Amino acid sequence: MDIEKVLAAMTLEEKCALLQGADFWHTVAVERLGVPQLMVSDGPHGLRKQDQEGDHLGINDSIKAVCFPTAVGTAASFDPELLEQMGEVLGEECLAEGVDVLLGPAANIKRSPLCGRNFEYFSEDPLLSGRIAAALIRGVQKKHVGTSLKHFAMNSQETRRMSASMNVPERAMREIYLASFEHAVKGGHPWTVMCAYNKVNGTYCSENPLLLTDILRKEWGFDGVVMTDWGAANDRVKGVPAGLELEMPRSGDENDQLLAAAVRAGALDEAALDEAVRRMLRLIDKCVAGRQKAEFDRGADHHQARKFARDAMVLLKNDGGLLPIRGQKKVAFIGEFAEKPRFQGGGSSHINCSEVLSAAEAVRGVCQVTYATGYGIDTDDVDAALEAEAVAAAKAADVAVVFIGLPERRESEGYDRADMKLPENQNHLAAAVAAAQPNTVVVLMNGSPVEMPWAGAVPAILESYLGGQAAGGAAVDLLFGAVSPSAKLAETFPLRLEDTPCYLNFPGEGDEVNYAEGIWVGYRYYDKKQLPVLFPFGHGLSYTTFAYGPVRLSAAESADGRVTAEVDVTNTGSMAGAEVVQLYVAPRFQGRRSRPVRELRDFCKLHLQPGETKTAVFELDARAFSYWETDIHDWVAEPGEYAIEAAASSRDIRSCAVLKLCTAGYRPPLTMDSTFGDAMAIPGAAELLKAMRREQVDLEGSDAAREAVSEEMMLAMMRDMPIHCMPSFGQVTKAQLRVLLEQLNALS
Ligand code: BGC
Repeated sequence: MDIEKVLAAMTLEEKCALLQGADFWHTVAVERLGVPQLMVSDGPHGLRKQDQEGDHLGINDSIKAVCFPTAVGTAASFDPELLEQMGEVLGEECLAEGVDVLLGPAANIKRSPLCGRNFEYFSEDPLLSGRIAAALIRGVQKKHVGTSLKHFAMNSQETRRMSASMNVPERAMREIYLASFEHAVKGGHPWTVMCAYNKVNGTYCSENPLLLTDILRKEWGFDGVVMTDWGAANDRVKGVPAGLELEMPRSGDENDQLLAAAVRAGALDEAALDEAVRRMLRLIDKCVAGRQKAEFDRGADHHQARKFARDAMVLLKNDGGLLPIRGQKKVAFIGEFAEKPRFQGGGSSHINCSEVLSAAEAVRGVCQVTYATGYGIDTDDVDAALEAEAVAAAKAADVAVVFIGLPERRESEGYDRADMKLPENQNHLAAAVAAAQPNTVVVLMNGSPVEMPWAGAVPAILESYLGGQAAGGAAVDLLFGAVSPSAKLAETFPLRLEDTPCYLNFPGEGDEVNYAEGIWVGYRYYDKKQLPVLFPFGHGLSYTTFAYGPVRLSAAESADGRVTAEVDVTNTGSMAGAEVVQLYVAPRFQGRRSRPVRELRDFCKLHLQPGETKTAVFELDARAFSYWETDIHDWVAEPGEYAIEAAASSRDIRSCAVLKLCTAGYRPPLTMDSTFGDAMAIPGAAELLKAMRREQVDLEGSDAAREAVSEEMMLAMMRDMPIHCMPSFGQVTKAQLRVLLEQLNALS
């Protein structure tokens, strides 16, 4: 398409119309100029293409497609390669179905375990979330199908998601919430971004120039199209100059007319409109050029779904090596979820599955099991008869495997959870079975952390998350040791809801949601508070064991943070397995701002045969040591010593080395409002002050004064005194202080 030629030939009305959908899933065609329509469809862990009536809540039917594990699990794989493969499969499916843009992935941060959409989000950690999202994007787009990175930004709850303002401090925005999108944009180059429904600090995302233009385009280099979430356009006259292109879905003619009228009245610069149209045309051109024949092989993709699911399930506990189940054991499968698995979430990502494989079905070829229903999925009430039957089955077996989890009604797009609890009947059953059978395994099916009151009584727990349509098969593969589990938690499992960082501020009051916990999200919070947790971020067991060697750094000192860290990891057990090696950076000094104890700065997954050793290699740069300095609105890597930790989880540090960073850091210039303490923090300041003190300031005073206030006390008292106050205490003049400030600023 000759984009400039088409643009020049378009009428104002055609331009405005192109910036809105034609219906629920299509863009507008401009037939007289040969501009075709595009089709978009949900995503992100399967294709939800609606041929008939469209909706964004998963209500009406979509074509039969393959449901892969949801994001909570794929993130737990810590495996960008897997996500890229999954993206390629999805891309193929889109090509086969004539879908130009897949609406996903979603890179919102898990602020609270209660967010109804956490199953669709990757992590509480921005690096992991962004890298995993980027990999999925790369995979889909390799097939010349676009993606839509969503929901930009700060859409970390469902409560009042369409109206509330997420009031987020700048540092938390940059270090946590935006960083996830930043990694995804820079590492994945999505063709489109979907802006969120909510407001951020008072401005709707769909008309937020800071988000859509200054940060997304100017800072991160995004060059695609921004579309609204479904129904998220508020005022497109504000939206277009802010960086919004496409309103989805169609809301009628009125918004187009308002846009045209604004241009005619001079309230909206036509150049801004043209730029938006140009970006739309570029997207259309790119999508159309990529269209090609492909096959949607549902059978093969189901097979892939089982493999992906195996890599997305986390072995949380395995006391005494109860798993894998080997040999001629009598096994009881207990729980309705064993027959009717929960494997995906409700809402716009809901897939009309081509087939579903339950654990009860998958186990048939592997082992003879007895089965007891145990509880009803549709109720919370304890059914004594069902429970008694399950306990009897457990007693009669050598191993009991209890399948429990969150029913659909407890967790979905559109609303948040009220608590972190499993239904009472399921908790009761797990405890009763564990009391009757010491060899009890719990398999969980849920999209977000749950409290586990029975955890201490159960030797083995497998978190299967919402594992997609082949989840039952994958769980059986892991339970019986066809492969070793290798996923690790991409989120913390807190002991109780009251421990969570945003407990006092989630889901906010009315339309105001204050992210008062700031950067203290997930493990950053639990570690700083030294709180015990049920299972920490990054935790996940294997059937084999891994030994970590020491961390080797390419240099002990660095002027810019660019160092390579290496660690050898050996499979010391008897089974093949994969280890997610996590690299955390932990400042060992008290910096200018409060810092997390440690932060994930890189990770890699090593596949190891028994006895095999491989080297995990991590490339760090200044960003790995940086925090966001709000004074200068930029990243700052402070000089000092940092521990570079190789870890099996955020609370299982296996080895570490220390790097001395010799960067300039940041120190604000001293002013009269700076404190005595700020001044003393400048190297060399103490000497200057001493010299001055000899002449002017008698900190020591008389013997009597010295007795009343020691020098240490005096310094501590003065630390927070602004410099401009010092003349009031009679020892220096303002003029002398001005000279002193000049000298001190010259030192820093
Ligand atoms: C969801 C999006 C989805 C869109 C279209 C919205 O309600 O928030 O994630 O892509 O609907 O179905």
